[in-house]
Amino acid sequence: MKVSICGISGAPASRFHGDFTTLSYDRIGSSGRAVRVLIAEDERRMAEILRKGLEREGYAVLLAHDGSRALRLAQAADFELIVLDVMLPGLDGFGIARQLRDDGIRTPILMLTARDEPLDVVRGLDCGADDYLTKPFSFDVLLARLRALARRGPVPQPPILRHADLTLDPATRAVQRGDRAIDLSKTEFGLLELLLRRAPRVVERRTLIEAVWGYEKEIETNTLDAFIRLLRRKVEAVDERKLIHTVKGVGFCLREGGAE
Ligand code: CA
Repeated sequence: MKVSICGISGAPASRFHGDFTTLSYDRIGSSGRAVRVLIAEDERRMAEILRKGLEREGYAVLLAHDGSRALRLAQAADFELIVLDVMLPGLDGFGIARQLRDDGIRTPILMLTARDEPLDVVRGLDCGADDYLTKPFSFDVLLARLRALARRGPVPQPPILRHADLTLDPATRAVQRGDRAIDLSKTEFGLLELLLRRAPRVVERRTLIEAVWGYEKEIETNTLDAFIRLLRRKVEAVDERKLIHTVKGVGFCLREGGAE
């Protein structure tokens, strides 16, 4: 693995010497203000190079060599940055990023992808990564990207979407109508999220299909209708007002009341 290391200053290292299972950053001192970084990388040589380089720059670094451990550490501790390799034993970087975002953990994630695969990059960003680097990379570039991510701070919590008495929280994926919790499938959730984001505007059928199933899939238009029916059944209980409206020949919209 070629990593060009350059521009590492002789700044004093902020080190974390501890048992990973009893993680406490108090040991480095809260006044130390070292930026806490979790590095998930299974290639040990690469992980060590990253750790040493980042420590020399004043970061406090923890290493995880497999995906499950990386996820546990990221869930348990308060990191300011996460460097996440995609290919990891146990759980890959995509799975970790998605799980963290589903848990509401908004730590900025820099993903390391092994190849310059556009699909890996797209997938990484879709899973909740904030930036990516393809291997091999320059250490200077890694440092610059980490500085930029650290400056931005935690990824903002996406706002809860509301229309009438319907709410959807993109961070926790909780959907409610008044006090009633609604359990949606991934597809139903995707459709409702888009309708809410655009409400009360009409969302065209094609837009809904592309957003939820992707450009590549050939989705029959009656598949969309079937999912909208399922969604209506869950979102509009017998005693509740109608919210999802069909605009014939165009698409669907969220509106309170009114005729179909
Ligand atoms: Ca790897």
